[in-house]
Amino acid sequence: MIRLKIFYTLFILLVTNCFVMAQDDNHVCSTTFPTLEWENEFQKLISDFVGNQSNREVSAMAYTIPVVFHIIHSGEAVGTYPNITHEQIMSQIDVLNQDFGGYAHNVADYPANAFVHWAANQALPDANKDNNGRVKIANFNIQFCLATKDALGHSLAEPGIDRINYHTKGWPDPTNFSTQMTFKNYLDNIVKPNSIWDVKKYLNVWITDKSTLLMNGGVSSVPPMSTLPGIPNTATDSTDGIWCYTKSIGSYALFPFGQYFSSNIDGRTLTHEVGHYLGLRHIWGDANCGNDFCGDTPPASAQNGGMPVYPHKAGSCSVPSNHPDGEMFMNFMDYTMGPGKYMFTTDQMIRAQTAMANSPFRNQLGNHDLCSAVSNLDEQKQTTTLFIYPNPASGDVYVNLSGQNLKRIDIYNQTGSFIQSFYTPLFSLEDLQQGFYFVIIHTDKAMSSYKIIKE
Ligand SMILES: [Zn+2]
Repeated sequence: MIRLKIFYTLFILLVTNCFVMAQDDNHVCSTTFPTLEWENEFQKLISDFVGNQSNREVSAMAYTIPVVFHIIHSGEAVGTYPNITHEQIMSQIDVLNQDFGGYAHNVADYPANAFVHWAANQALPDANKDNNGRVKIANFNIQFCLATKDALGHSLAEPGIDRINYHTKGWPDPTNFSTQMTFKNYLDNIVKPNSIWDVKKYLNVWITDKSTLLMNGGVSSVPPMSTLPGIPNTATDSTDGIWCYTKSIGSYALFPFGQYFSSNIDGRTLTHEVGHYLGLRHIWGDANCGNDFCGDTPPASAQNGGMPVYPHKAGSCSVPSNHPDGEMFMNFMDYTMGPGKYMFTTDQMIRAQTAMANSPFRNQLGNHDLCSAVSNLDEQKQTTTLFIYPNPASGDVYVNLSGQNLKRIDIYNQTGSFIQSFYTPLFSLEDLQQGFYFVIIHTDKAMSSYKIIKE
């Protein structure tokens, strides 16, 4: 693990100037926060949901949400920005499943004493605490899969991907819109209504390039409530879904050859937006020490950025006091840089489960046969048990697939150039020069990347 970390550090230093760094490293989310009327309605549903469960030991229903990524481009070849590869999309799905499953890749960064005072002072129920008395990192039991069929039931050439050339559609260039309002109008009036798939069956994610003047990285709908059709800010069946800046999609760690930008190289922009899509609010409640309606997240004075160190801003809010634990900057619903975030809480899970059970645009998302390989947590976790050996190697290399079905193994050199593909778990490095290479293993469940040294 340490070797891997050192390697990544070196690799990031090596390639940073090539394709990771960019000027536009701000992530601002432009999701409109819900009205009080919406929240009141939602609170009634939450009470009904929790009321059926003793001691808030909520048994989270298992859902798998089919996702379609509408990749908006202007005719570039697949793999040329912004027409990003299937692999980059797959790495994003892996990130969502890790983050919403409670096993984010950097979850070990959670401090041993994190929010124990807060949990004790608030007398949080056991369901909201872990064995160390910390605020518990929640498993939402909500997973995501790439849709294998389109809205008409036809199989997709690339699961989960709908590539759209905006020239062919007669749409304007997305980079023409430099304000939040004009860009929102462009999305809501042109892009979404003319490309959206049934919002009751799919999570629609549109990804586009954007103006360098536009500081937004993502925006999401909040789940509509059934009994209040007229309340403002709710989505319609021609606009519901999420937009993200193309360079925020995917995981650099899982797929280093994608197109990323510096502060969001691990797919957390979409994790954040899917949080809104499932009814979560910003951790600071969009106000100074505002309310996010989750009892297990300490109040926060404002959004956090960068990479804070725990405890951060202890005592920044006094009613109730967040002293001495400070703010939960590592929560996905903050603005901290992607690598600094790794958790949702139990009360956030309850909001998402309530939305999935009740919102008319969410409550059928788990009922489908739109993904062939429906993933579940155990299967996802198996991806960590894949390994390759020997390493270093001079000739044959074997991949232990841990019961997964191999689709393809791709070899890249250290500058990111594709070398060749293999289709069996036994392959040879014999023809390669000495040095290090990347091995990207695609299975029916996930994609994993490894470094290998050719002796
Ligand atoms: Zn947000």
